[in-house]
Amino acid sequence: MEQQDVLVTMEGVKQYFTVKKDRGRKATLYAVDGVDLTIGRGETLGLVGESGCGKSTLGKTLLRLYPLTAGKITFEGEDITQLKGEALRAYRCKAQMIFQDPSSCLNPRRKVLDILMEPFAIHKMYTPEERREKALELCDMVGLSRTYVDRYPHEMSGGQKQRVGIARALALQPKLIVCDEPVSALDVSIQAQVINLLSDLQKQLDLAYLFISHNLSVVEHICQRIGVMYLGRIVELAPAEELYAHPLHPYTQALISAIPTIGESGRERMVLTGDLPSPTAPPSGCAFHTRCPYATDRCRTQAPVLTERSAGHWAACHLVV
Ligand code: SF4
Repeated sequence: MEQQDVLVTMEGVKQYFTVKKDRGRKATLYAVDGVDLTIGRGETLGLVGESGCGKSTLGKTLLRLYPLTAGKITFEGEDITQLKGEALRAYRCKAQMIFQDPSSCLNPRRKVLDILMEPFAIHKMYTPEERREKALELCDMVGLSRTYVDRYPHEMSGGQKQRVGIARALALQPKLIVCDEPVSALDVSIQAQVINLLSDLQKQLDLAYLFISHNLSVVEHICQRIGVMYLGRIVELAPAEELYAHPLHPYTQALISAIPTIGESGRERMVLTGDLPSPTAPPSGCAFHTRCPYATDRCRTQAPVLTERSAGHWAACHLVV
């Protein structure tokens, strides 16, 4: 990717939390443990992995919802790692988030019009009349009838609420949106509509997305590149087509083999045994060795490095050459 095409760079990003375990003992939770990623302007980068692998935390870290434990994030070439106060608020206009459950982030006591005008009020933008007109334009952009502005969230369907969530994320004309499982809570029939809407908005507005999902089949058609995350680390990163056609890491192979297909796919199902280990006690060496069918002694002691194996295709596994 040419330097001028890069919107975001993350270098060695770590996000640890102190948590209480049994009997009040404290432990460190290694939610994100040394991630290097770039996101291009107008690109959709998918981030997949099981629940608890750190992908949502990475999205929130990118929006600076937490102070970083270590590492550096730049946005349009500016280091945003230590931003505070007004500078951090200005950054958050450019980088927004869409959540899995729109109900949880829409104030149930406010009508849609108020929800959509709120970002303008917070940032002291426009007159009240202009805010109302902008809110109506946002409804048009996301395919929501203007008649819905007088409704409360509980009077709307899941898909309509998600459109309100998307409209609100668009209000301040961001350049990046972190989409955190944006269709997982929706009926299958509505999922494709919301994905198509996100795709259309991206083309119109030259938006970049970090598209987080536990489901590889959801990200297949919307992402240009996909990163696979396991216990806080990226274990594979590749252009979407390449990843589905030639998955290199055993974890990615297992995830892809579990995608339901109609008829014969020619893929052999690779069943993962055991649960994701606790991020408070990640296994030594390759963190995947406790579930990997190919693990060797070397895997138990030596962590593999994410290495470029062919153009744009990175994998962290001792067996991949
Ligand atoms: Fe499996 Fe070893 Fe590769 Fe890790 S490094 S994925 S344990 S083969």
